[in-house]
Amino acid sequence: MNSEDIRQEELRYARELSQSMIEWGRDKQEALLKILEKKGIHLTRENIPAIVRATSFDQMCCPENIHYCRLYSDGKQCHEHLQNLNCGMCNCPNYNAKYLEEQAQSVLVGKCRIQSRQGHYYFGESYPRVGVWSCEECPIHHSEEFLTEHLKRILPG
Ligand code: SF4
Repeated sequence: MNSEDIRQEELRYARELSQSMIEWGRDKQEALLKILEKKGIHLTRENIPAIVRATSFDQMCCPENIHYCRLYSDGKQCHEHLQNLNCGMCNCPNYNAKYLEEQAQSVLVGKCRIQSRQGHYYFGESYPRVGVWSCEECPIHHSEEFLTEHLKRILPG
């Protein structure tokens, strides 16, 4: 393959990744809404405290929610040392999965809208020049306060 073919292949892969992350985010949101629905909790401003309680790791981590997070099967948190970890914003609203940037030496997929220093671009083995924004080490979206503030912003008063 010449360099143009390689770049086209990298771009194809990058677009696929972006699309799969968009779908992952949508699926997560839908799954969360169903979990809340089952508990009889509707997405309303009045219900914010109930939503925050229902989405705590302690409440979420059970066998019937394994479709939401596979770590529940082992009773593990994604951030082991975080106190009061909340799972409601697993799909962080600051993540821009549509973002795609062509650079001279690489292609970047995904971006943090607030440019958190706790995320980073991850370059895998199969496409070493395609970097995907990884939030693996960022705890911001797992706090009760973050979820509360986000819900206040999106739910009408
Ligand atoms: S780095 Fe943190 S704040 Fe930024 S998108 Fe990822 S989880 Fe959200």
